[in-house]
Amino acid sequence: MNSLLNYTKDELSNIFQPSFRAKQIFQWIYQKGVDEFDEMKNISKELRNTLKDKYTLNPLKIIDVETSQDGSKKYLFALHDNLTIESVLLPMKQEQRDENGKLIHHTRYTICISSQVGCKIGCAFCLTAKDGFKRNLSVSEIVAQVLQIKKDNNIASNRKVNIVFMGMGEPLDNLDNVAKSIKIFNDSDGLSISTRRQTISTSGLSHQIKKLGEMNLGVLLAISLHAVDDKLREELMPINKAYNIESIIKAVKEFPIDTRKKVMFEYLVIRDLNDDIKSAKKLVKLLGDIKAKVNLIYFNPYPMSEFKRPIKKDMLNFQKYLLDHKITCTIRESKGLDISAACGQLYEKNRKAL
Ligand code: SAH
Ligand code: SF4
Repeated sequence: MNSLLNYTKDELSNIFQPSFRAKQIFQWIYQKGVDEFDEMKNISKELRNTLKDKYTLNPLKIIDVETSQDGSKKYLFALHDNLTIESVLLPMKQEQRDENGKLIHHTRYTICISSQVGCKIGCAFCLTAKDGFKRNLSVSEIVAQVLQIKKDNNIASNRKVNIVFMGMGEPLDNLDNVAKSIKIFNDSDGLSISTRRQTISTSGLSHQIKKLGEMNLGVLLAISLHAVDDKLREELMPINKAYNIESIIKAVKEFPIDTRKKVMFEYLVIRDLNDDIKSAKKLVKLLGDIKAKVNLIYFNPYPMSEFKRPIKKDMLNFQKYLLDHKITCTIRESKGLDISAACGQLYEKNRKAL
């Protein structure tokens, strides 16, 4: 049966008249977090019965949760066809001063979500790619990941979270459903998550980056670059044959982005492959006049992986070179390593378990 989570508020207002019904339904689902139609108290019994006959609410079933020592939590969800996807909740402790200058501790949540079951792109270093592509996620399956994780952790519905499309799959290969989900997350009668808190990470499908830009959603962009010359990038990411580095840089330059924000370039550092200063130099040149920031990621090895984790000294030298050349550069702490919950690290463990 079709889930009501597949619809934006505009779409709902075309289905249910008068149009304020859509607003009410949205508030029940996203703000009050109801699990049953009968809990929608201000909606007539007649309409509730129609809803029950035609629609479902939550399309996901939690089948496993693993908590890491650092507090991150990995969720395994079953879909209606028994396929599974994973999402991760990443809490980040922050210190802030209140108006009296007193130090207060504050937790910021980021939820890393999947957009497909498997992935077509086939990157050599990525576990998601190993089992091929199964199918796109529906809008409801994307949206429910955030809804369920917020509920399961008692995160108040009006509490802002960040969303990153960095779980399983290539979000720009499922652009229509991803774009609709972004609008639903953003709706002020729903979770009200600003599009500036939502990041799409892509392997660099240039034509789709262009399309996403034309949609003008205000969403942030992260590019999984990982290599600075086409030869190595092709080896790591076969998609580079279709969309090379130059085409990606061009698409990024044309992408509309909030003037206060930067495009994130993710650079997976692999020992003896792309961890040298020569690569850092090329990266600086490549990013030239783009408002960019770089996120260096430690390659996270898995059993039988052909690549190696870089050594810390090379990672720090690489970072220093970028910082010295005025490029914001962070090193991604491998959150949740003990439960393989680092984004892009999902899947394989459970494939074995099922
Ligand atoms: N398909 C999209 C989004 C999902 S992957 C993309 O590729 O951008 C999210 C991130 O995890 C990507 O930057 C990916 O390169 C990274 N990743 C994949 N395998 C990894 C591994 N073994 N160790 C560390 N990061 C990895
Ligand atoms: Fe797909 Fe991203 Fe994995 Fe590449 S890194 S195979 S694009 S999920």
